Amino acid sequence: MSKHTKKGKLFRLMGLTLASLGLLGSGVLAHHYFRVSSVQESWKPGHPPVEFTADVHTLEILPLVNFHAIPESPSADVSYGFDEETSNYGSGDVPDASSGDSGNDTLEDRSSLRTEVGVSYLIRTDQGTILFDLGHNPQKTNPSALVHNMEQTGVQWEDLDAIFLSHTHFDHVGELDTPGSPFYSYLETAKQSIPLYTPQPLKLVPLRNYLEGMDAGEASLVIQETPREQEILPGIATTGGIPRQLFIGYIEEQALVINVRGKGLVLIVGCGHQTLERLLIHVRKTFSQPIYGIVGDLHLPVPDGRMNPLGINGQRIFASGEGPLHPLSKEDAQSDLERIKDLEPGLVALGTHDSSDDVVRMFAEEFGERYRFVRVGEWILVE
Ligand SMILES: [Zn+2]
Ligand SMILES: [Zn+2]
Repeated sequence: MSKHTKKGKLFRLMGLTLASLGLLGSGVLAHHYFRVSSVQESWKPGHPPVEFTADVHTLEILPLVNFHAIPESPSADVSYGFDEETSNYGSGDVPDASSGDSGNDTLEDRSSLRTEVGVSYLIRTDQGTILFDLGHNPQKTNPSALVHNMEQTGVQWEDLDAIFLSHTHFDHVGELDTPGSPFYSYLETAKQSIPLYTPQPLKLVPLRNYLEGMDAGEASLVIQETPREQEILPGIATTGGIPRQLFIGYIEEQALVINVRGKGLVLIVGCGHQTLERLLIHVRKTFSQPIYGIVGDLHLPVPDGRMNPLGINGQRIFASGEGPLHPLSKEDAQSDLERIKDLEPGLVALGTHDSSDDVVRMFAEEFGERYRFVRVGEWILVE
């Protein structure tokens, strides 16, 4: 009898625990979806409009941190998941942007470029040079992949006029979470007397603490928050932070908008959390020029992302789409492709930070000669 009572108690306890967990889970989900719709409703795109004071005549983009690197780099992952030998758009047929008289004579030694699931681009124009995002450095190496690849490609900190953070997630800010550690990119970053534009305060990132800990005169980086659209250099603007409620939390992401003479706007996108759909609505309402090109990630980790802790497809389920109940699908990638097709762009280059090789292939096949691969060490020239 007492045995039965014990068993009954155990079952009741298990039932209660499961019910509580279920309740908690549904509560978390309900709260998340409520936040998704309230963030969506509070977003006001494109006000006020931005008039550029100039246009840029030359635009050259060098991926410094990404998942793939140029084929000459044996230590880097160059696979695109399809046969590059036979593909019309494989490496053999991609115009060699690093040759010719583009001024890029600093790539003699391309043998040890490093790759990782982070983002950083050098954006070089006749109006100024910007370092876009600071990579990830998950192995916490010294130097970081960003610093290493900068050295390999001859990019100097002194070349920079500004640093631009697309958003404050760890894989875009060089894992700036341990002040004073010598292996992080911001050791160098902090010493630059240039502006760093961020759409949100760097609260994940105690860069401010670190700056305060440096000797007077040594730390000179100027942090500027850019929650709204504005020109940051002649002919170069930010969209300002576009908000999004992800399952992993609230985030605002900004894109760089470059007004290229005779072509139109080239958008540089870091992770694509803001969604392409909303980015395009915002850009159309904010700027009068047509969109010429898109370079960067659009958060299309389908069918698989590149960050899969414990076998869970983190990028797809938790950092994109509306949440675990509505993760991104192949159809979403197709919709984005159609949106870009409607722009009739002259340049499309998907990053491989959170876009799968399958999606890269889909876009490369669609846009043909207008498509450019994003590979560490390979310049993308807008000409
Ligand atoms: Zn992110
Ligand atoms: Zn990202």
